[in-house]
Amino acid sequence: EGGGAEVAELRTAFNVMLTHIESSLAARTAANERLRRFVADASHELRTPLTSIRGYADLFRYAAANEPEEREAHLAKIREETARMSVLVDDLLLLARLDAHDAEPPVRPERVDVVLIVSGAADAFRVGRPSHPLSVAPGSSAPVFVDADPVRLRQIFDNLLANAAVHTPSGTRVGLSVSVVDSRAVIRVEDAGPGIAPEDQLRIFDRFFRVDNSRTRSAGGTGLGLSVVHSLVVEHGGTVDVASRPGRTVFTVQLPQAG
Ligand code: ADP
Repeated sequence: EGGGAEVAELRTAFNVMLTHIESSLAARTAANERLRRFVADASHELRTPLTSIRGYADLFRYAAANEPEEREAHLAKIREETARMSVLVDDLLLLARLDAHDAEPPVRPERVDVVLIVSGAADAFRVGRPSHPLSVAPGSSAPVFVDADPVRLRQIFDNLLANAAVHTPSGTRVGLSVSVVDSRAVIRVEDAGPGIAPEDQLRIFDRFFRVDNSRTRSAGGTGLGLSVVHSLVVEHGGTVDVASRPGRTVFTVQLPQAG
């Protein structure tokens, strides 16, 4: 009866193989669905500023030639929407390149001092967002080296700082700190704003997710900022997470310290 055992073994092997095929098919279907969703969302997001640009172009055309101020206002809107669109396109391209694991990756790591990058982001924030006082801790400290692309690293902190300002009332203090814990550079961006509901905290790193569509859209958000932050941090071998309750939101980025 040796043949029976062989058949049973074959059947087991066959079933294992089937299970593998099924689960890889399911994974592929899920990946396809994510891609389909992404393309649909991206098209929708691109269409929004395009529609506005077209609308303002029509308004410009219909505004009487002797109303230069009105025309100037329409042109300013066209510029604003165009700027928004180029941020969106840049973010989309960056995400696509990070996904693709290209031969030419969008991230070129080198040994950089996080403290220096963070203070650059802080200076730009102070100039660009005078509405939000910024505290940096510690004021000055020893360099903390990581292997990172300096431009992308700066982009991470610019994004988190911009969110802290955009999603909190004017005058709300924003905090920024760098420390080292267990050979990891730990950068915190915190604000005293309304916070993010626990159920939304799981989704804010998703592409195109916004907590309150109309409000953040009018504030110029694309819903891609935090997904770009997440993808960039992961590309650098780090982690990013959020802890939030009303009155206190903290984004923590951790990056491996350069050896
Ligand atoms: P957006 O371009 O809309 O800001 P993000 O990906 O940067 O997109 O953020 C996703 C959502 O997370 C935002 O729409 C906002 O609702 C929420 N969010 C992000 N940062 C904060 C913050 N510091 N405080 C409150 N909500 C925030």
